[in-house]
Amino acid sequence: MSKIFVKDYLLTQNNFIERCKNLINEKFKNTPTFFVHSYGCQGNVSEGEKIEGILKEIGFLKVNSLNDANLIILNSCAIREKAENKFFSHLGNVLNLKNSSGDKIVGVCGCMVQQNHILKKIKESFPSVNLVFGTHVIDKLPEFLFNILTNSKMQCFNISSEENIVENIPILRTSRIKALVPISYGCNNFCSYCIVPYVKGRERSRDFKIIVNEVKGLVEKGYKEITLLGQNVNSYGKDLNLNNAFLKLLQEINLIKGEFKVRFMTSHPKDFSKELIEGISKCNKVCKHFHLPVQSGCDEILKNMNRKYTKKQYLEIIDYIKFLMPKATFSTDIIVGFPGETYENFKETLELVKKVKFNAIYNFIYSKRIGTKAAEMEDLIKKEEKTKWLEELIKTQNEISYENNKKYVGKIENVFFEDVLNGDENFMVGKTEGNIMVTCKKDEKKIGNFCDVEITKAHRTKLEGKLI
Ligand code: SAH
Ligand code: SF4
Repeated sequence: MSKIFVKDYLLTQNNFIERCKNLINEKFKNTPTFFVHSYGCQGNVSEGEKIEGILKEIGFLKVNSLNDANLIILNSCAIREKAENKFFSHLGNVLNLKNSSGDKIVGVCGCMVQQNHILKKIKESFPSVNLVFGTHVIDKLPEFLFNILTNSKMQCFNISSEENIVENIPILRTSRIKALVPISYGCNNFCSYCIVPYVKGRERSRDFKIIVNEVKGLVEKGYKEITLLGQNVNSYGKDLNLNNAFLKLLQEINLIKGEFKVRFMTSHPKDFSKELIEGISKCNKVCKHFHLPVQSGCDEILKNMNRKYTKKQYLEIIDYIKFLMPKATFSTDIIVGFPGETYENFKETLELVKKVKFNAIYNFIYSKRIGTKAAEMEDLIKKEEKTKWLEELIKTQNEISYENNKKYVGKIENVFFEDVLNGDENFMVGKTEGNIMVTCKKDEKKIGNFCDVEITKAHRTKLEGKLI
């Protein structure tokens, strides 16, 4: 195993932070502005918050529109072709805006630019991009910006595979009540369809104490929902030679004083031990919502996906969680139309979905990713056929979600209210511990708090309730 270096942002960048600040003062009459857009998973959103934190620190001001921004950064996602197409179409629009207004700096970063063919396409087809930087060098943004501000030609900054952990990067958090806290970066699992291990590198766990202190600090500042992030949170600490470290981390966080809840994602079924389930059942601050991506309900497909568990093992995990935590809720990810999958195989996934009765499913049609094992596999089923399977899965799940939600009517649920309901100022919106959306007549002082709510009506995707 290669050694992971933990670096300190302040030590490596201090010099550039100061030089950038001075240069910005010289170059701009008014405070320069930035707009960062992060595509894809919560991990990317969390990296976007770091990019914003750095920009704020060196003297840029955040704005909410592309038009108003002097600096625009698009933080890309490579997980599926659709995400990549969306990124290129937005990039085209942003560059049109840059060309018509003349003075914008445009940067691109994230998972897509870690791939050589994408980098080539950006250089050839989007030459007016100013800055390209990979997923392992976000911390060097002050240095890159210093270079850009002194030389406006396109500059690419290593898309290297030097994998490390950098602590002390400033973070501009999107919310004042909910916080994302990465506990590990990268992934070692190499599921055969997935690009993540290639673009995010090997799994690197953050220091146990640093994570606990970060959560403590957030709780002291009033954050009420902490989501621990990693591609495979339950293998946290394996690279640090720690045993059962994810459970120990949850237990330590559970001891922190204050009113808050902890969520985590994503867990991998192959590492979801009985001990972890038993431990979680005793942690009152850990939400009993389990996002456990199954991907397929067919053993042959699971094997070809390199998922390292069987349908039976997956169902045993679910059953044990249900046994120890009867109120637990479940969600999952499913890939439809993996190379070689037949309708018979797919029917096994449908059966599993009916058995588990997930609260929500994130479904994806298989997308070929260059460089992965699955990209070499024969894929004979037409897109139209896969779309039909997907529709069948969605229909099945919609009925299950509605049936699940109806069971809450008349019951009392503890809800964390997060915001005013989008589109209706008279209502507020929150989530139950089981991650189900609840709307309620607005009471401004309840936003940002946990409240007991009587559930009065069920819909497929949400519940309605009244405060008690
Ligand atoms: N680390 C997490 C999630 C990673 S990506 C996990 O292992 O569960 C989120 C989801 O995107 C995956 O769970 C998978 O369902 C989907 N996904 C990943 N690669 C894909 C591909 N090539 N085509 C379609 N869906 C994909
Ligand atoms: Fe991708 Fe599998 Fe790693 Fe998840 S566990 S990020 S699906 S390789």
